[in-house]
Amino acid sequence: MGGSVVSKYFDICQHKEIVKMGYNYFGENRAQLYRDKLNEIGNNGIKWDFIGRLQKNKIKYIIESVNLIHSIDSYDLLLEINKKAAEHGRIVNGLIQINVSKEESKTGIYIEDFEKDYEKYFSQSNVKIIGFMTMAPFSATTDEIDNYFKKMQELKEKFSKKYDYLTELSMGMSNDYKIALKNGATIIRIGSKLFE
Ligand SMILES: *Cc1c(COP(=O)(O)O)cnc(C)c1O
Repeated sequence: MGGSVVSKYFDICQHKEIVKMGYNYFGENRAQLYRDKLNEIGNNGIKWDFIGRLQKNKIKYIIESVNLIHSIDSYDLLLEINKKAAEHGRIVNGLIQINVSKEESKTGIYIEDFEKDYEKYFSQSNVKIIGFMTMAPFSATTDEIDNYFKKMQELKEKFSKKYDYLTELSMGMSNDYKIALKNGATIIRIGSKLFE
């Protein structure tokens, strides 16, 4: 199990302090801030993940350095990331973001849509899909969240049988990480709770 420190709340100055404390695995959700922090802090011994909604025209800010893109929420976006990764001669690790609750305000692919034609997601030359990511709705009850996370664990187990390199399940934030860990999360994304 790993945990990426969701560092989106910190400006560059605060972020440098966190690095000094010994943290070295971060998740950012805004591409420009990601770029600015990378320029200042670098990626020597530090892993940078991207966890937020990624606009196609901003892939360029992260593509050279990113460790893992959690938020591949459409096939179109995957194609564009693949293209940019190829241009930079990289093979980038990615997670498919699943909209497990079908909440309208969230992006992500529905489980049944993914299962209908999953092969295309795994056939990209320069993006390796190593797992799934999801977010539970803010208003969901514990039981509902538990249900959603169970579905995600089933999905991951099913596809890890087909693709043995598919090992990651990114789910769980400050409010629901315990439920996520119970349901097999391999990466939790904790922000507000770490430094309150
Ligand atoms: C902000 C954010 C988190 C962390 O949320 P906290 O509630 O602060 O722990 C996790 N994942 C994503 C995608 C986020 O944008």
